[in-house]
Amino acid sequence: AIMVASSLATISEVMGELQRAAGATERLVELLHVDSHIVAPSQNAASTQSLSAEVKFDDVTFCYPSRPDQAAITQLQLKAEEGKVLALVGPSGAGKTTLFELLQRFYDPQSGKVTLGGVDIRQFEPGELRQQMALVPQQPALFSHDVFHNIRYGNPEATDEQVIEAAKKAHAHAFIQNLPDGYSSFLGERGVRLSGGQRQRIAIARAILKDPKILLLDEATSALDSESEYHVQLALEELMRGRTTLIIAHRLSTIQHADQIAVFDQGQLVDIGDHSSLMQSSELYQRLVELQFKHMKG
Ligand code: ADP
Ligand code: MG
Repeated sequence: AIMVASSLATISEVMGELQRAAGATERLVELLHVDSHIVAPSQNAASTQSLSAEVKFDDVTFCYPSRPDQAAITQLQLKAEEGKVLALVGPSGAGKTTLFELLQRFYDPQSGKVTLGGVDIRQFEPGELRQQMALVPQQPALFSHDVFHNIRYGNPEATDEQVIEAAKKAHAHAFIQNLPDGYSSFLGERGVRLSGGQRQRIAIARAILKDPKILLLDEATSALDSESEYHVQLALEELMRGRTTLIIAHRLSTIQHADQIAVFDQGQLVDIGDHSSLMQSSELYQRLVELQFKHMKG
């Protein structure tokens, strides 16, 4: 009981810190909550050093704890090859985001395993596992702090020079320089308003600074203005170079350029291949391209 009480105190202290740092943080609350579902390795955690950046879902079946009777992922066999781009497509509710949650180990599957470099991710210390990956969400959160801090979040040890270098690679340097106080400009709720494309480039700069093996990208569904679109595209290309990328795709150009596309429906992988082969072989893929991708700008 004493152990429980003291760890609760620690969690509420951390929560206080996070809320001060981040403002309203429903997502963080959720993450801390779901973290309680997993168990860290008791001893001899595996090292992520010198592992290949190959990700595999090996016969994975998973239900969310709140819905034990409905599988969100069913017997999934899927490999993301080192250095390649794997696009995930499928109707809403198909299980795409769930794959990212499993990979970051916010939940464990009921059966099967997720591996990184051939090692079951349950053998890593969760913090070290998450250090191997960067997530660029659809709507990146900005903290109530200046631009330096917002980018440095990707690597707390980075110098100002390294932050600026990352911002340049993320095609964010020019717009940041044009903010009222440059890199010292305050962002967040009471700070400078950034456009959707600018926020994404801040998130990309964070990810560049983190320099992870694995990238998890959730492409924005809402259209950006075409200038932002162009810069975000270039920034993403820079970020993806040489890394294993899993991308929840919403753009035709993304799926056309992906090495492989995995088509999901109701928690199951129904088809896999590249764009031209799926256009020939997959009815669901053809339908998705018609309905979800055709109307978006290439
Ligand atoms: P997608 O990203 O492809 O739209 P999701 O992975 O978000 O799909 O959802 C897959 C299934 O899991 C859906 O049926 C969804 O309702 C369910 N689901 C997603 N998140 C949760 C959650 N936190 N708790 C319970 N069920 C969830
Ligand atoms: Mg989703």
